[in-house]
Amino acid sequence: MRKQGQAARKIMRFLRRCRHRRYHCCWCRAAAMSADRLSSVSKEAKPESVSLCPLDPAAAPEQELLCIFGTGDLGRSLGQRLLHSGYRVVYGSRRPQSCGPLPQGAQAMSHEAAAQSASLVFLCIHREHYDFLENLAPRLQGKVLVDVSNNLKKNLYPEANAECLQRMIPGAHVVKAFNTLSAWALQNGPSDANRQVYLCGNGAEAKQAVAEVATKLGFAALDKGSLSAARELEEFPLQLFPEWRMPLYVALGLTAFIFVYVVIREVVYAYVEQGEDDSFRIMVSLANKVFPIVSLIMLSLCYLPGVIAGFIQLYIGTKYRRFPDWLDRWMLCRKQLGLVALGFAFLHMVYTLIIPIRYYVIFWSSANTVSKIRENRTSVFDTTTAWRSDSYYSMGILGFGLFLLLGITSLPSVSNALSWREFSFIQSKLGYLTVFFCTLHTYLYGWDKFLRSYKWHMPPAYMLSLLLPSVLLVLKLLLLLPCVDRSLTRIRQGWERTGTQDGTGKPLLT
Ligand code: NAP
Repeated sequence: MRKQGQAARKIMRFLRRCRHRRYHCCWCRAAAMSADRLSSVSKEAKPESVSLCPLDPAAAPEQELLCIFGTGDLGRSLGQRLLHSGYRVVYGSRRPQSCGPLPQGAQAMSHEAAAQSASLVFLCIHREHYDFLENLAPRLQGKVLVDVSNNLKKNLYPEANAECLQRMIPGAHVVKAFNTLSAWALQNGPSDANRQVYLCGNGAEAKQAVAEVATKLGFAALDKGSLSAARELEEFPLQLFPEWRMPLYVALGLTAFIFVYVVIREVVYAYVEQGEDDSFRIMVSLANKVFPIVSLIMLSLCYLPGVIAGFIQLYIGTKYRRFPDWLDRWMLCRKQLGLVALGFAFLHMVYTLIIPIRYYVIFWSSANTVSKIRENRTSVFDTTTAWRSDSYYSMGILGFGLFLLLGITSLPSVSNALSWREFSFIQSKLGYLTVFFCTLHTYLYGWDKFLRSYKWHMPPAYMLSLLLPSVLLVLKLLLLLPCVDRSLTRIRQGWERTGTQDGTGKPLLT
């Protein structure tokens, strides 16, 4: 009896917590009935009575029935997931008797019968086959139709699939959803895949019903608005790294250019002028020249648009005028530029670590030692060289360490845990410090060879990499001058120079 009393109290606690409030959802209703029964039993039961009364199976909430049109890959994965989440599933198929293995517990019937049995229908069929739905329109009146379809190409049809569906069956409530998840993701569930289900539609209640199903399946539903957003959702799965495209093209172009440059300067020159075959250097030595150069140039490209934007704002005297399109696009891919640059810096680090185990290095260092012993020669310790090489390595390590920090804090999971001030301190202040360390690392590498080692009038490749970061640092220093910084800060806080509207922009900032 004590146990029954406890069970009844537990259920009452559940009812108090349930956001649907008592009798407003089937779970609450069933729980309330059980609690009433248990508490009455606990009141009536004799002290010696110990057996618990089992819950009446009839009191269990009825599982909601959902319909899926199409028994293909997505239809089956979705059905399985719905069944695991406590729904009943009925399939609408052209061949209900021979549609292949279905998830256990699901039924298959004709489209008409299936549509009639549920109020929410998932259309897991390709858009090309939507025509048959027109004949079913009377059966689909008032139902929520979830369009999960995607197309093979962008702009294949003049209107979005979901909008076409809504036009074909005006009496139904079409919701575009689940199209950004793959059959694989649905089968594995959100723990091992994308957790978001984007949806859009014109009916708030229909969207709410679909969002509830998504939530019950363990996904987070994100409302993207009315059905006019369907095209955007349908194009989402067709995207191929849109914001990475420009940084990757830049990286490829730079890598190809610098590689050809160093091959001409280091390999072809040695072959033509000295008759030496240095081609073996391509794999490690030259690669390890290309990677840091590309990395430093790309890191500078990541910070340069911010500085250019600062000068443009100073020039036009307002922050309320749009930047040119090219600058807008450049600013939008700064994160990707930085991450690609970090990848190249990482390669540089790994290639540098293997230098001591290279055959070429081992051979020449032992040959040098042997020749010194033979000729009874010693070399004098040079403190300046020691300072230079230690500073060179130290700047490289510090630059790389900060670079890693920038990369880590750009990850959404990390940046979400930072305040805006913390994020901008790391990405801006420490970012410029990273550029400074890496640039200094390269200057120390050149040291006193800057104006000496030209081959066929071609300067060493690392000198090419110094151009952009040096310009960037000088421009940034100009922006940091107190009078300039004050004006820029005011503009960024909303202050406008008089005359900026008509474009005359006469008085200078005060
Ligand atoms: P699928 O494996 O080819 O299955 C499509 C199903 O549509 C078939 O099994 C068939 O079911 C039905 N069907 C075929 N021809 C039909 C016709 N003429 N009339 C009526 N029904 C017909 O395709 P799927 O991969 O499941 O994809 C279904 C939809 O989901 C597509 O629009 C796709 O863009 C979208 N989607 C798929 C994925 C994915 O990972 N597969 C991810 C996101 C979105 P019955 O034989 O039972 O009638």
